[in-house]
Amino acid sequence: MVDKPTSLTEDELVEEIRAWAEQYARENDLILNPDERVRNAVLQGLARNQIRYGVRYCPCRIRKGVAEEDAQIACPCAYHREEIEAEGRCHCNLFFRKDAARTEE
Ligand code: SF4
Repeated sequence: MVDKPTSLTEDELVEEIRAWAEQYARENDLILNPDERVRNAVLQGLARNQIRYGVRYCPCRIRKGVAEEDAQIACPCAYHREEIEAEGRCHCNLFFRKDAARTEE
């Protein structure tokens, strides 16, 4: 997934990414983390990476600075399906399998 630089503010971009993530979750029989605080923190991290790098890199992983390798960690990353299958959620705790969702509180 290759995004492009944006002229949106961070808050606007967070809402754009939220809409995308909600749609992605619906289409893949997943849900977003029900914990609003965690969910918003991940969305904000994705927005900041898009503003900084032009790509929604995973905020929970380290970029290597090599575009081909870093493409693996553009959200939705190459690892999320396997993680959701094994753990019930992706590494960032953004996407959850429906039967594995729980709040942190
Ligand atoms: S771990 Fe989750 S939030 Fe992070 S890039 Fe992968 S799918 Fe996106």
